[in-house]
Amino acid sequence: MNDLAVVNGKIFDGFSSYKANVYIKDGKISTVSSQILDAAEIYDANGFYILPGLIDPHVHFALNLGKYRSADDFESGSRSAAFGGVTTFIDFLDPVTEDSEIEEKFSQRLKLASSSHVDYSFHMTVAHPNIPAMELIHRTLALGLNSVKCFTTYSLSNRMTGDGYIFDLLKSSKDLGAVITFHAENDPIIIHRISGIGKRFPKDLPFFHPYESEAEAVSRIGTFARLTGGQAYIVHNSSGRSIQLLKAYGIPSNLRLETCPQYLVLDDSVYENNSTEVVLHTLVPPLRSKLDLQLMKGYFVNGIFSTVGTDHCPFMKKEKLENESNYDSMPNGIGGVETAFSLLYTLFVKEGLMPLNLLVKMQSTNVADTFGLANKGRILPGVDADLVIFDPNSEWRVTIDSLHTNADYTPYEGMKLKGKFVSTIVRGNFVVKDGEFISRSKGKFIERGPVFWRTHSEMR
Ligand SMILES: [Zn+2]
Repeated sequence: MNDLAVVNGKIFDGFSSYKANVYIKDGKISTVSSQILDAAEIYDANGFYILPGLIDPHVHFALNLGKYRSADDFESGSRSAAFGGVTTFIDFLDPVTEDSEIEEKFSQRLKLASSSHVDYSFHMTVAHPNIPAMELIHRTLALGLNSVKCFTTYSLSNRMTGDGYIFDLLKSSKDLGAVITFHAENDPIIIHRISGIGKRFPKDLPFFHPYESEAEAVSRIGTFARLTGGQAYIVHNSSGRSIQLLKAYGIPSNLRLETCPQYLVLDDSVYENNSTEVVLHTLVPPLRSKLDLQLMKGYFVNGIFSTVGTDHCPFMKKEKLENESNYDSMPNGIGGVETAFSLLYTLFVKEGLMPLNLLVKMQSTNVADTFGLANKGRILPGVDADLVIFDPNSEWRVTIDSLHTNADYTPYEGMKLKGKFVSTIVRGNFVVKDGEFISRSKGKFIERGPVFWRTHSEMR
C-alpha cells in the first residue's frame, strides 16, 4: 500500500501538463496514474497544480560576514523556502584558500545545515587554492559536491580567483563532471571606481559596480567556456546589456546562465530615493537601469536563462541603516527565497508572456540537470517524492508578516501577487500542509556525483 496519494490535481512537470494522481511510498514516487490506488493518506489537490519541488541553486543561509550574519539561518531560511515551494537548495561553503581547509569548511557548513527542513547541497567555493585545479575538483567530488564557485573580483578581500586557475578549472570540469560557477565582474573596474571616490555612500553602488564590469567578465567567461569546452555557469546575471553582448558573441552550449527575480522586477531608480530605501536595496550586483530590466525580461521569456536562483541573503533593517553613511561596512544582500515563484508567475505566466512549464523548468528541472541532482526535479516513478501544491487562483499581498523569514523587511512589500503554494512535500513528508508549517520532514544532505551536461539547446 502507498503511504500518500496526491489526487485530482493538474501536474505541470516542466514539459507537459496533465491530470493524474501521484502515489508515494517510502519517500519515493511509486506511481503516476489516473487510476485510484490504495494509500494510507489521501491529499486532495482538486483545483491546484502539482509541480516538482523547486530547487534554489543560490542561497546564503547563516552567512558569516564577521560583524554581521545573514538574517536567516538554515532553520528559518529553509522554513521560508518551503513556503515558497522550495524542497532543495544549494548553499555555499566559505571560500577555500589553503587546500587543508577543504574538508573542514565542508563539515562546518554541513553541521550548520542540519537544522534544515528541506534537502540541501553546497557549492565548493574557492579563492586561489594552492593545489592544481584537477586535484581540487577530485577532492570536491569526494565530498559529494560537483560544483565549484569562483569570484572574478573581490581581490581586496582576498576572494578573487585568477584567470589562469579559472581556465584550468574549466578544462578539468568537462572530463571530471564538475560545474564551475562564477560571480562575474571585472575586478580592476571596481577597484578603479571605488578608489576614485573619497567617502563611499550606498547610493553610489551602481557606480562602484557598473554593468560594463559585468559585461566584460561575463563575456570573458563565455570565451573561456568556448575555448575549454568546460561546464561553466554564471550566477546572478543582472544586466540585459551584458547578456546582449554575450549573445552577439554567441553563447556556447556549455555555458549556462542564472538570473534572480530581483533583476527582473526591480530597477536602479530605488537608489535615487531617500537613504532608507537606498540601503534596503544594497546588493551585488546592484539593481540595473530600466533598459537593462526591459532586456532581461525579454531574454527571460525567450529561455536564455537556464535557471533562476534567488541569492537569498537578507540582513536586518537596523544592520542596513547603521551603515547609511558608510558603504564600506554595509552587509550586501536581500531576501527572496519565498516570493520568487509567485512573483515570476504573476509577472510572466499570468501575463501570458511565458508558459508555466518554462518557469517550472527554470526553477526545478533545469537546476536538477545542471547540478546533477539525479533524484530531484521530476515527477516520475522512482525519484524522490518532492512535490509542491500550487493554488493558481490565490491572490495575496506580500507583507513581511506574511512571510516566514527571520528578516524584518522584504523588497517586495505591498506587491499584489497571484498564485501561492499551499503544501510542500519533501521525500513524501509534508513540511507545509494547507498553509500550515508541519515539518514532518528533516532535510537531508544530497550527494551530487559527477554530472555531464546535455547541451543547452537540448534542455529547452
Ligand atoms: Zn550569492
